[in-house]
Amino acid sequence: MKEPGWYNRLNRFFKEKFGERVSKIPLDVGLTCPNRDGTLSQEGCIFCHNPAFSPAAAIREHGNNPGSVRKQIRDYQWRSENHGKVPAGKEEPPAEFVPRNSYLAYFQSYSNTYGPLTLLAQLYEEALQTPGVIGLSVGTRPDCLGPAVIDLLTVLAQRSHIWLELGLQSAHDTTLKKINRGHTFACFKDAVEACRGRGLYICVHLINGLPGESPSAMLETAVRLAPLSIHGVKFHQLQIMAGTLLEQLYRQNAVTPLSQTAYLKIICNQLEMLPSPIVVQRLLAETPRRDLLLAPDWHVPRAQFSRMVEEELRSRGTWQGSRD
Ligand code: SF4
Repeated sequence: MKEPGWYNRLNRFFKEKFGERVSKIPLDVGLTCPNRDGTLSQEGCIFCHNPAFSPAAAIREHGNNPGSVRKQIRDYQWRSENHGKVPAGKEEPPAEFVPRNSYLAYFQSYSNTYGPLTLLAQLYEEALQTPGVIGLSVGTRPDCLGPAVIDLLTVLAQRSHIWLELGLQSAHDTTLKKINRGHTFACFKDAVEACRGRGLYICVHLINGLPGESPSAMLETAVRLAPLSIHGVKFHQLQIMAGTLLEQLYRQNAVTPLSQTAYLKIICNQLEMLPSPIVVQRLLAETPRRDLLLAPDWHVPRAQFSRMVEEELRSRGTWQGSRD
């Protein structure tokens, strides 16, 4: 039996699997998304502003090139292993630099299985060939997972650790339509099924507080995910970023962000419903672009929020999966 307050943290998962801490290196490799390039729409999801969440995408937004996959990875490792304080005049890692730690290359911005297969294979391989990289985390949409790219990732999973981060946000088709996702919950379930038994780890991205969703609808999303063949979840509170379609709804009072208290309760309710093996990769969204964040007006550091979730579960006498 799990202890009250328990939930399955990503750090614990890595420690048990690899015997050490593993960090993710966020990358922007210049891919796009069918919900942006006009294939499905040009507007994108109503909350989407990639540069607000991805430092590398922010570099590209200003007309600069964040560099090759290898360069982005090496620069990150160099800064990280110097605790963010690289020596003056040594901003670039020297050729002889060998990272001490283990990393996953996180293909974060936009849809990273959407592109020519040869290009995707080259990008993934470049990441895996960079010292210190033990695997990939590939962010994408469920409708960008055709058989060929799943086969490619399956082969890579035989020699490295591969997470697929699938944007879902909600298991309700009415909400998916409202937020202009361009796919359904059935499409997501088909993608999960197509990846089953391939050695791939599936992490689902969810947003709480989407327009029109009640706390019970958010809980229902967790209930619908529970029986599926998924391995991880990332929770986010709805954040309203300047320049998004969501900003217009917000200014028309058509959407109200969740309070911190309400969000905490919803997360705990959802955790109680999710099977205990599912790895919780994130409990809270944080944007490096606070200047673009219009709402909500509360901010809690991730570590503090994690303690609050544990406290809440402990006070209820429950844990992740206790109501599964
Ligand atoms: S699928 Fe992702 S990248 Fe594409 S519009 Fe939606 S949030 Fe943005």
